[in-house]
Amino acid sequence: MATYAELSKEELQQKKEQLTKLYKEWQGKGLTLNMARGKPSAEQLDLSIGLLNNIVEEMDVVREEKNIDLRNYGGLEGINGARELLATMLEVEPEDILIYGNSSLNMMFDTVSRAWVKGILGNTPWGKLDKVKFLCPTPGYDRHFAICEYFGIEMIPVEMHEDGPDMDVIEKLVSEDESIKGIFCVPKFSNPQGIVYSDEVVRRFANLNPKAKDFRIFWDNAYCVHYLYDEIKILNIIEETRKTGKEDMVFEFCSTSKVSFAGAGISGMAASEANRKDALASMTVQTIGHDKVNQLRHAIFFERGKKVAEHMKKHAELLRPRFEIVINALEKNLGGKGIGTWGNPKGGYFITFESMEGCATRIVQLAKECGVVMTGAGAPFPYHKDPHDSVIRIAPSYPSREELREAAEIFTICVRLASVEKLLGEI
Ligand code: PMP
Repeated sequence: MATYAELSKEELQQKKEQLTKLYKEWQGKGLTLNMARGKPSAEQLDLSIGLLNNIVEEMDVVREEKNIDLRNYGGLEGINGARELLATMLEVEPEDILIYGNSSLNMMFDTVSRAWVKGILGNTPWGKLDKVKFLCPTPGYDRHFAICEYFGIEMIPVEMHEDGPDMDVIEKLVSEDESIKGIFCVPKFSNPQGIVYSDEVVRRFANLNPKAKDFRIFWDNAYCVHYLYDEIKILNIIEETRKTGKEDMVFEFCSTSKVSFAGAGISGMAASEANRKDALASMTVQTIGHDKVNQLRHAIFFERGKKVAEHMKKHAELLRPRFEIVINALEKNLGGKGIGTWGNPKGGYFITFESMEGCATRIVQLAKECGVVMTGAGAPFPYHKDPHDSVIRIAPSYPSREELREAAEIFTICVRLASVEKLLGEI
């Protein structure tokens, strides 16, 4: 089979006509489909409905355990059962964990905010410095970049490789530039590429020698237990930094947003004792305590962590076919045509598609006009600037399988059409 680049102008014109006809047929159906955001489907949310069961009897148990009434104020660092649950997910000790509200993103934002206003461990508040920069493995999670933009933190893109970000660049930059204060990393099933950091990459992170004393790795382990197939282990950054004596360099985040309820789970941070104390000093001003009743519901439902693996297998059963629908459509309709490549992630929430250079914006626009909402082209890049206009994030979790089949079919038509337009010099 010839690739599109090998076709003559006449053949391309002919293809364009066929594809336009197909596109218009789909457009005529007036569908409204969405492959934009990584939200769990209603079926997935139903898996945790047991959380909402009556917990009156267990209230007594946990009240005694900490000598506090969970309905009342207090317990800023979180109840034991919730700390055990997140400790199991992150493979750390419960004492390493501080529990927050429902959103780890909120905790990341607040962590930057505290550094901005108060400074980390006695260092100059970032907000008082002329310049603060973060390294941003790219493509990455758009909301990490949004936090940087909000605070006016300059973002320096760092290329992603198959086993994690370019560590040569990271090591060099952090050791030379004191204004580089942080890096956002999603070490397991990265958003959007589904990349898993190798042992070597994790070790190199644990061995960084940053010029800034208050440089911090924001280790966002959002997909730590989110396997589609078999379990995949990565090295534990908290353990590795303990070995190198650099445990203060890491804040590790996670939540149950894609374990229980995306809008009503619990989140937390694993960090060194010094970092936890530093955070608590500000948290105690921010709040008298997070929702301990929800923490209890989670502790009970997941048996303080013991039930997580089994529960995540049920998520995988719902997610796996959805990922496979998209991958199969890409294979079937785009394979061998030389107009795009895509990842085949083993976990997480996203598939990344890479089009021919200069086509992503057009593909997303064509999809939208045909009833399929995709994440905006450029979103996975700092300042929304994809230098090659080629990366598109596909989120297969939310639509039903039937909807997804249609959405994936339409998407591949849009890719083919935009590629033909590109080869004809029209875009
Ligand atoms: N981090 C990453 C990498 C994510 O993909 C997401 C959700 N899309 C979040 C954090 C948000 O997590 P939470 O719901 O705990 O705020």
